[in-house]
Amino acid sequence: MPISKTDFVRGLQCEKMLWLDAHCPHLRIIPPEVQARLDKGNEFGDKAMGIFGEFVETTSFKEDGRLNYSAMLAKTQALLASGENVICEAAFSWYGNYCAVDILRKEGDGYALYEVKNSPIPAKQFIVDLGFQRLILRKCGVPLITSKLILSDEITEEKNPLSNSAENEKQVEQGCVERIEKDGIRFKIVDVDKAAKLMERTVEKHIFAFGKLKRKDAACPIVGVGAHCETPYPCWYIQHCKAQMQTNTSNIE
Ligand code: SF4
Repeated sequence: MPISKTDFVRGLQCEKMLWLDAHCPHLRIIPPEVQARLDKGNEFGDKAMGIFGEFVETTSFKEDGRLNYSAMLAKTQALLASGENVICEAAFSWYGNYCAVDILRKEGDGYALYEVKNSPIPAKQFIVDLGFQRLILRKCGVPLITSKLILSDEITEEKNPLSNSAENEKQVEQGCVERIEKDGIRFKIVDVDKAAKLMERTVEKHIFAFGKLKRKDAACPIVGVGAHCETPYPCWYIQHCKAQMQTNTSNIE
């Protein structure tokens, strides 16, 4: 079964999480604060689309409101063929494994890949996300020159749940290549190409195994509750897994 970049990031955190996404999504409980953060992230992404000026977006929908991936893939190919400079949600597929690049920008003879995240620091899971995209685009024959993160450059007192180390803060300052202000929002662009290239190897190693977890006949991986249930993202199945653990313990007693 093909997987998306979201599937990959979730599978790398916990294979059982990916299995539950595919087989039992009704067991998810998304806390309201997490949903609010996701919505805010989507808004930030929409605003970042125009930071390089004019752009074309491939997003297409079916009559039932779901994303029309085939239309997005076809539109992306047409835009690449016509030499479009900035493509948002540029869609690519390799053996069905799919990604939509937030911003793909023409640079010289190739393209720069930009991933937008409403966070001030380049957390490791963002590099995983970029590594997945790099692999798919490279397999699709896209000449990639570099890969970068577009982050928030807002100064906030709010603790960012994705801040995972002081090392990251240092990396931002070292890799920060550009600061842009648009419509009152401050963005910073950070070059993480070296780390994203390295991450491609991890992606290539796991991508097909993760796909197998989505098959109808795949068995649920046996994974216990632990630190991985909180990092990098709090898992939406924690209540289900804790209840399952309690039942298993009672059955043994
Ligand atoms: S709660 Fe923990 S063990 Fe259960 S699916 Fe989530 S990450 Fe995996």
